[in-house]
Parts: sequence; C-alpha cells; structure tokens
Amino acid sequence: MRIDIISSLPSLFKSIFSSSILQKAIEKKIVTIATHDLRDFSENKHRKIDDYSYGGEAGMVLKIEPIAKCIQYLKTKRKYDIIIFMSPDGDLLNQKICNQLSQKKNIMILCGRYKGVDQRVRDLFIDQEISIGNYVLSGGEIPAAVLCDAIIRLIPGVMNNESSALFDSFQDDLIAPPIYTRPENWNGHKVPNILLSGDSKKISEWNEKQSIRLTKKIKKIK
Ligand code: SAH
Repeated sequence: MRIDIISSLPSLFKSIFSSSILQKAIEKKIVTIATHDLRDFSENKHRKIDDYSYGGEAGMVLKIEPIAKCIQYLKTKRKYDIIIFMSPDGDLLNQKICNQLSQKKNIMILCGRYKGVDQRVRDLFIDQEISIGNYVLSGGEIPAAVLCDAIIRLIPGVMNNESSALFDSFQDDLIAPPIYTRPENWNGHKVPNILLSGDSKKISEWNEKQSIRLTKKIKKIK
C-alpha cells in the first residue's frame, strides 16, 4: 500500500510514522507513506496557501490552487484508488471503513487547516470525506494519522501475530474480551480461574461469552 498525505504541517507526522507498528510496516516495505508540504505547491513568493473567506466569516481558508496543483502532480505519478479529505462533517470513521481502506493500493489523504478548504476542492477532487469524531480539531493531520494507524495495522504482515487484529474490538461487531497477564494474583485481585485452566475450548467459550456481555453492555457498535 502507498499513502500520500497532503498537509500544511507535515512535520506533525514524523514521530507517529517513526515508532512502533507503523515504523515496522514502513521498514518491511508493506506500506510507503509520503507526506507533501502544501506550501511547496504555492506559487506565492511567501509560500502562502490560505486566504480570507468570501462572505466575511472570520478565519482563513486553504486555497484551491496549491491543493489542485499537488493533487494533479500526484495523479501524474500513479492511479489513486481513493482520495480522502479529513473533515469533521465526513463519514464517521469505523472499523468497517478501515477494513475497506486496508485493501486499497494507493490512497491520497488531504488534511485541512484553519477554517478548512475551499469548497471547490471538496466538490472536484474528493472521493470520500472522513471524520474521526464529532468534535473539531485544529487540523487534519491527527485525524489522518489516526486513519493511517487504523488501516495499516490491518494489512497482513504488519502485526507480529497476523490474526490478532481479527480479535480486536469491532471486528465481527464484537467488543474484545477482558485480558490479563502475570501476576495471577495482584494484592488479592485474581485472574479468572478459567484462563489458568489450560482448557482452550472452555477459554474460547468464556472469551466469546465475555465479548457478547461487553458488547451488550457498551452498545457502541452501530
Ligand atoms: N470549519 C470547519 C472545521 C475546520 S477544522 C467546520 O466547522 O467543520 C480544520 C481542519 O481540521 C478541517 O478542515 C479538517 O481537515 C480537520 N479536522 C478537524 N476536526 C476533524 C475531525 N473531527 N475529523 C477529521 N478531520 C478534522
């Protein structure tokens, strides 16, 4: 998979993509992530990428020209399966969307900033708009990083134990069961006996029962 991210603050991604599972996925060449600084596509001598909004509302808006130039440049390099704009009014990100995106080959992600982007960018270039929640952040970089993390960990070969992503919450519409590690007894708080029994059939039945109980209790799955 290749992900191209267009951003006005690409340095925000550095630590996220150079640690842990994402770093390993990049090192193993399972995924390539390229960030593109929107200012590099500005024709303004001060590398300006924003301007006042028509209609007088307070706040700056990302201009169409540098974004269009960047997208058009990237499109000459390869064919994109999908061009995504991170936006608080987009489709609410969920595991189903992550599963679908994890199967794509070339993804482009545009990050907004300030008041957002000129509406014509959204109308002309974007295939899907994705929100990470019903709240407003100051830019699309953190949402884009959330999206990248959520989809990359699903690609076969990225996690050490490939199947473990399958047992996470929201896969199969179920919340994951409670998990424990050593010690067996911490200040009188014990690990459930069944998990120490070594009986794998009973353990998987217990896990399933717990998953169903938690799913009913939490009722977060839509
Ligand atoms: N004026 C906009 C908010 C702009 S916030 C509005 O009222 O909807 C600036 C940028 O941050 C957005 O363009 C978007 O790219 C990003 N952003 C903010 N909150 C987000 C969220 N919850 N999910 C995805 N992207 C978000």
